[in-house]
Amino acid sequence: MVSRVIPVDPFDLVIFGGTGDLARRKILPALFRRFRDGQMPEDARIIGAARKDQDADAYRQSVREAFAEFLRPSEQGDPAMEAFLDHLDYLPIDAMGDGGWSELKGKMRDDVPQAFYFSVAPSLFGALAERLHTHGIAREDARIVVEKPFGRDLGSAQALNATLAAHFDETQIYRIDHYLGKETVQNLMAVRFGNVLFEPLWNAQYVDHVQITVAEEVGVGGRGAYYDKSGAMRDMVQNHLMQLLCLTAMEPPNRFEPDAVRDEKLKVIRALDPVAPADIVRGQYNGAKGASYLEDAEASDSRTESYIAIKLHIANWRWHGTPFYLRTGKRLKARASEIVVHFKETPHSIFDEDAGRRANVLSIRLQPDEGIDLRVTIKEPGPGGMRLVDVPLDMTFAEALGPDAENVPDAYERLIMDVIRGNQTLFMRGDEVEAAWAWTDPIIAGWRDRNDKPVTYEAGSSGPEEALMLMHRDGRRWREIA
Ligand code: NAD
Repeated sequence: MVSRVIPVDPFDLVIFGGTGDLARRKILPALFRRFRDGQMPEDARIIGAARKDQDADAYRQSVREAFAEFLRPSEQGDPAMEAFLDHLDYLPIDAMGDGGWSELKGKMRDDVPQAFYFSVAPSLFGALAERLHTHGIAREDARIVVEKPFGRDLGSAQALNATLAAHFDETQIYRIDHYLGKETVQNLMAVRFGNVLFEPLWNAQYVDHVQITVAEEVGVGGRGAYYDKSGAMRDMVQNHLMQLLCLTAMEPPNRFEPDAVRDEKLKVIRALDPVAPADIVRGQYNGAKGASYLEDAEASDSRTESYIAIKLHIANWRWHGTPFYLRTGKRLKARASEIVVHFKETPHSIFDEDAGRRANVLSIRLQPDEGIDLRVTIKEPGPGGMRLVDVPLDMTFAEALGPDAENVPDAYERLIMDVIRGNQTLFMRGDEVEAAWAWTDPIIAGWRDRNDKPVTYEAGSSGPEEALMLMHRDGRRWREIA
């Protein structure tokens, strides 16, 4: 399968925090790949900006080193790399200071789209936004890109939105949730809205329940003290799992356009019922295989969760009575993210009792091995009566794409090109983020008020026993994490 590359217009992209981890690991490799595949035009310019006092040559050398570390083995030594590095420039700029801004203004062109990636701590967003304006650099059509975490509660998210809104219109702000840039997540929308097969069944009448899992093998070691101020609810559920939930549950937007899609997502968040304490399980991993959460977090009395499972309901006609089970955690048995839609069992079996009752399952895998698989029932081949088996109708990209499978684009490739194209569809709107915090805040406040303590789970397991019970008591069970 040959992928079609449509080049974007020339652009000026400034990466504040251009020497940081995110720039080295994700943003610059993504830009390189788009350049290599012919999507970035010759007169595109990328300007790294950070506090470090160095010239453009030294910056290019540091990016060369980042590529040696973060590009795939098959990409190393690609002759396109040096040509890409020619597009890079650098300016030492302190977000809080006044040096370097006039030089930046001198480098920006008037006749190409301009984008500013704020790959710095959110505490610097205000200083950057203000200086881009006081120094007359950002035009009215400039775009800014901001990363998670977007606040730690409703109040701080509102404050952050207000800081940005003082200088930029909502149409200029691109809030990244990189889960939305994943091929499979977009494919979820293609499957839902590009086929007539699924949408009539996509409701409480035919869907028994939905499971959304984001499981990680790694613990929080290395950034434990930082993570301990956040926890799984703030770090994963409020943003990534919430976005996956929205795309799964939303009504069909009338167009695949920014506000049409984001309006529908917002309606889902606003329709979420409050969650009863009995429908939430919080956990911390023990030290069975290495350091425990408490050791990693360097806080022996921490009540922050490294795992959370939640059963929730969406109060609308489509989903009345269909629970959504969400879970995410660190130090689990495998790294696996998926959305699983469990359809109801066939209402009546015309076959013998031993044929069993059958239910279709649609699973959308985000990682590893992005792909979609639908389990359908067929007759087991051969003589011996009507024995039924479930087989996968596999839409794994690895098979559909053949040798190109390794090149499934990273989420950042898609998202950065969308910024350049000026398409906000896969970015979060300010009111969505606030609505998600408005749902999250009372849950977290309840834990604080009740002095809620997470349970312990075995490192390397599927999570706490209590989370298994959350399903079992409803006569359901989680899919194996694999
Ligand atoms: P980092 O600490 O590695 O890099 C921070 C960058 O900001 C550096 O380039 C540094 O020079 C620059 N910087 C710091 N203070 C500055 C100042 N006063 N003026 C100008 N530049 C300054 O951080 P990171 O991991 O690259 O993260 C950047 C942002 O992206 C953060 O908001 C983070 O939460 C978010 N984020 C990072 C990741 C990731 O994988 N690293 C993932 C999601 C979100």
